[in-house]
Amino acid sequence: MNFYPEFEVVRSDSRCIRCRVCERQCANEVHWYDADGKVMLSDESKCVNCQRCVTLCPTRALKIVKSDCRLRENANYSDQTIKEIYRQAETGGVLLSSMGNPNPLPVYWDRILINASQVTNPPIDPLREPMETRVSLGKKPDHITRNPDGSIDTKLPPQLTLSMPVMFSAMSYGSISYNAHASLARAASALGIYYNTGEGGLHEDFYQYGKNTIVQVASGRFGVHKDYLEAGAAIEIKMGQGAKPGIGGHLPGTKAVGDVSKTRMIPEGSDAISPAPHHDIYSIEDLRQLVYSLKEATEYRLPVIVKVAAVHNIAAIASGIARSGADIIAIDGFRGGTGAAPTRIRDNVGIPIELALAAVDKRLRDEGIRNNVSIICGGSVRSAADVVKAIALGADACYIATAACLAMGCHLCRSCHTGKCNWGIATQRPDLVKRLNPDIGSQRLINLMDAWRHEIKELMGGMGINSIEALRGNRLMLRGVGLTEKELQILGISHAGE
Ligand code: SF4
Ligand code: SF4
Repeated sequence: MNFYPEFEVVRSDSRCIRCRVCERQCANEVHWYDADGKVMLSDESKCVNCQRCVTLCPTRALKIVKSDCRLRENANYSDQTIKEIYRQAETGGVLLSSMGNPNPLPVYWDRILINASQVTNPPIDPLREPMETRVSLGKKPDHITRNPDGSIDTKLPPQLTLSMPVMFSAMSYGSISYNAHASLARAASALGIYYNTGEGGLHEDFYQYGKNTIVQVASGRFGVHKDYLEAGAAIEIKMGQGAKPGIGGHLPGTKAVGDVSKTRMIPEGSDAISPAPHHDIYSIEDLRQLVYSLKEATEYRLPVIVKVAAVHNIAAIASGIARSGADIIAIDGFRGGTGAAPTRIRDNVGIPIELALAAVDKRLRDEGIRNNVSIICGGSVRSAADVVKAIALGADACYIATAACLAMGCHLCRSCHTGKCNWGIATQRPDLVKRLNPDIGSQRLINLMDAWRHEIKELMGGMGINSIEALRGNRLMLRGVGLTEKELQILGISHAGE
């Protein structure tokens, strides 16, 4: 069915100098030059509003606007719902999308406010007084013994030490480009934090960044071998992902080319489909076996992270994981991004990270096992304020991925699954990959993290708190606005004014 395009290309004829930059920059082949009429023309039906042509047009002759031409919708059947039914009636296929859940479900971060000290408990000036943003992730011992000279005598289990409580979340080589991985690896190394390979293995060029790399083991085991495991600073077992809980991953064969197929250890052009479950894990005992197999394989040097999607009974699941021998639990909320997910799963499965995080922290504290594991919170952490709120709700650190992509130039056009990312991030097309310069990409990531670090210090200073450790789980620093009693109860916070 032929719909009126979602976006319209508006070109100012008086400003357009026919340089054809837009034609060269658009991987979706929207623009072309009509030599007879000496005009630029557009096929708007292919436009995804990635803003590449708008940004690079030298005379600002272009803008992309959302079309106001809609089907006859009503409160029950929106324009989008009707179109999706038409599309499925034509193709018989599952609808695919990218990035996170776009629906207007509650964003609890925006309904939580942070405290500030006044008068009797003075704030701390982060420019003049030391503020500790370092965190260590991993099991913490119940007791510490000291040597006569005061040094710590207790042998700590393996830890990840971060200069600030933010890391780059899993994005596989294949779903994102070589240059995007290079940007993340270099930035993590410069910042003293970590990036995550995702389930695509580790390109040989990036072994040099191993001490800032988390290597992932997913159900497909793509690219997993001894050297890979030993190369990282931690190993993450991916049980689930916030954008698509309960299903596996799928990298289309068209993206499994060249180094991507080599790194994944799969034939060129074959689809890389990771199954929904790990076929050797059907219980916490099974998970424990994998945790200890990976520890054994790396001589107990590396902490093991277990990543799960935020789902209904997440607190009980986390309690099991904490008893499995894992050192760190990563919880990924339902607004988390992805390179490709079935639309119905992305938009309807899982729960908000804020509620999941609060529930997990409380459960582990109630059971007296909170120090058995650290908690990483991911799934739409968008700012330093979200990080501070997450830590006060009980996280030790946060994972970011969409925000990291934005820093590298992503315009949230949500078409990563097409492989035609005009910004060189979610693509393997060499002409598009080279649009992302890793020097610039990594510097922009460093800038973003530096800005967040500064904001985190200011927010902590305002509360009169000078270390992340003192903020963790400190829910007295949070108040809710416009939330129900039940929501406040799950979050474990009071309402503003109380
Ligand atoms: S897809 Fe991007 S580059 Fe192409 S016309 Fe639309 S906004 Fe411009
Ligand atoms: S990574 Fe690229 S394709 Fe994906 S949303 Fe961002 S700009 Fe669009």
